[in-house]
Amino acid sequence: MPQTQLRVTLIDMSDNALALIYAACRQCYSAKSAAAIFAAGKDDPRTMEEFVAKVVASGHESPLEHVKFTFAIEGVSRALTHQLVRHRMASYSQQSQRYVKADDFDYIIPPSIEQDPAMKKEYIAVMETVQDGYNSLVGKFEKQGKKGEAVSQDARFVLPQGAATKIVVTMNCRELIHFFKERCCSRAQWEIRALANEILAICRKKLPGVFSGSGEKCKGLQYCPEGNMFSCGKYPLKEEVFSSCKK
Ligand SMILES: Cc1cc2nc3c(=O)[nH]c(=O)nc-3n(C[C@H](O)[C@H](O)[C@H](O)COP(=O)(O)OP(=O)(O)OC[C@H]3O[C@@H](n4cnc5c(N)ncnc54)[C@H](O)[C@@H]3O)c2cc1C
Repeated sequence: MPQTQLRVTLIDMSDNALALIYAACRQCYSAKSAAAIFAAGKDDPRTMEEFVAKVVASGHESPLEHVKFTFAIEGVSRALTHQLVRHRMASYSQQSQRYVKADDFDYIIPPSIEQDPAMKKEYIAVMETVQDGYNSLVGKFEKQGKKGEAVSQDARFVLPQGAATKIVVTMNCRELIHFFKERCCSRAQWEIRALANEILAICRKKLPGVFSGSGEKCKGLQYCPEGNMFSCGKYPLKEEVFSSCKK
């Protein structure tokens, strides 16, 4: 029953991504066809990069919806994917606990538990107990003559939120920017924050014109909207910034 760690792989993205966003942006202000802009733009990546960066900074975000990224994500907990799939402007395909038997399930150990030997020992013991319970239920279902998903679909109810899973995620650039605003913030839970930061690093490398200014929401706002109790202190609070504007 091995412990496991986060792995993010970019498995696909839109071809000619920068030219595509550039053509969509320019179409808004040009009498030419997007097809002609797309064909011409491909020869001049620097101009496209600068133009797209300006458009993104201005908040004109619909052209970003034409380009998508697909990631294979492994070594994350079910607790993480439960949060991830709340982002609705995306497509997901997740490893099934009905069709894939968890007879030797991987799990995530939170850093707060990993760093305390006694807590880690206790955590691993709980996971082993769960594994034994799961295997026992599977054995009983098999004795009843059940096969395939009929064996695991009810046995899986004992599996913990820390059980590892694999998921394929596709998001367009606009949704990715929104995802980074929410999940790179220090208020986000540590595991999904680590995932968001890994995805952001990949996106920045692939499309710096779009993602170089991306990250937690305070980065763009230049203030923290989270309030006194939750702010990490990196930026002034919203109330502090706007108090002088009040009538
Ligand atoms: C720090 C933190 C704590 C959280 N705590 C909780 C919690 O305790 N309980 C809980 O249930 N959730 C919690 N969430 C989840 C949160 O409420 C959102 O469900 C999640 O962040 C997805 O965000 P979203 O809806 O903006 O994103 P997406 O679903 O990706 O949507 C992107 C944007 O599209 C628009 N949109 C999408 N769907 C609709 C719609 N139906 N109607 C109108 N506009 C739409 C909105 O502008 C939205 O921001 C938490 C999130 C964070 C970051």
